[in-house]
Amino acid sequence: MRLNVEFTTKLKKFGAESTYECFNCGNCTAICPLSTNDEQFPRKFIRYLQLGLEDKIKSSIEPWLCYYCGECQQTCPRQANPGELMMSVRRYLTTVYDWTGLSKRLYTSTAWKFFSVGILFFATLLIIYVYHGPIVTEHTELETFAPAEIVHPAGYVFGTVLAVILLGNVYRMYRYIMSDNNIKIPLSIYIQELWTLIKHFTTQARLRLCENKSLWLKHWLLMSGYTAAFILVQVDILTFWSLTNNPPPAWHPAKLLWTYATIAMLYATTVAIIGRLKKEEPVHQYSHSTDWMFLILLW
Ligand code: SF4
Ligand code: SF4
Repeated sequence: MRLNVEFTTKLKKFGAESTYECFNCGNCTAICPLSTNDEQFPRKFIRYLQLGLEDKIKSSIEPWLCYYCGECQQTCPRQANPGELMMSVRRYLTTVYDWTGLSKRLYTSTAWKFFSVGILFFATLLIIYVYHGPIVTEHTELETFAPAEIVHPAGYVFGTVLAVILLGNVYRMYRYIMSDNNIKIPLSIYIQELWTLIKHFTTQARLRLCENKSLWLKHWLLMSGYTAAFILVQVDILTFWSLTNNPPPAWHPAKLLWTYATIAMLYATTVAIIGRLKKEEPVHQYSHSTDWMFLILLW
């Protein structure tokens, strides 16, 4: 096993300021509603961080089992902020899995944050500038301002680039996790567990184990609103029903779903932004710049 004494210095860039405050008492593991006999965190994991056990950290799934409910933060006698430490590790691991190196730049460089948002902004403006039809100011004229035959191919290009990057990262995450655990999982187990995946994706049931049930509700609203919006965009690409001057009536099922997605996402992101400004709840006390970026883009 290799120790990296510089690891905590590296982790500070991702928000982990209090790694050495922890004296391993185990209060956080005792209070964490998601920690089990098989998967004990965050205490054990914080020990890995202190020792700089990089290989263990890279191959562990424990950081991804934490929902950041913040309950452990309230019981830590050393203010080591275990929930935030787990969050910082997730940021770090994202950069490990990302083969493009973009995540690392976005997490650690302010210049790159502004640069990437700027590129996206100006690329969108350029597409509108080059391809728009006649400008009409008297009424809404979606078909010329943002023609579907331009918006959708541009969406395909953005979507394809993102999908290639993300699927590659998922594969690398899988390789890292399987490399250390030295086990072969037969295909039949993946098929059997499909139901578990669907159940947890649609219900986010594990977060309900935490004491603060409103956290689950806000999280579920955000997740379901985003998923509904994602599905509707795919349907729109095939049917071209929204970027038209004659949108469907309010009672149309797709329109109702869009309304739900809009309200759910606006509510959940607004509450999270206010929470992060107030910093009263443990889950909102520490905000990395990318947390703000994510919330603002989503809002
Ligand atoms: S993070 Fe706090 S509660 Fe958890 S083991 Fe360390 S000192 Fe104890
Ligand atoms: S933030 Fe919540 S889920 Fe994560 S380790 Fe702490 S108590 Fe457990």
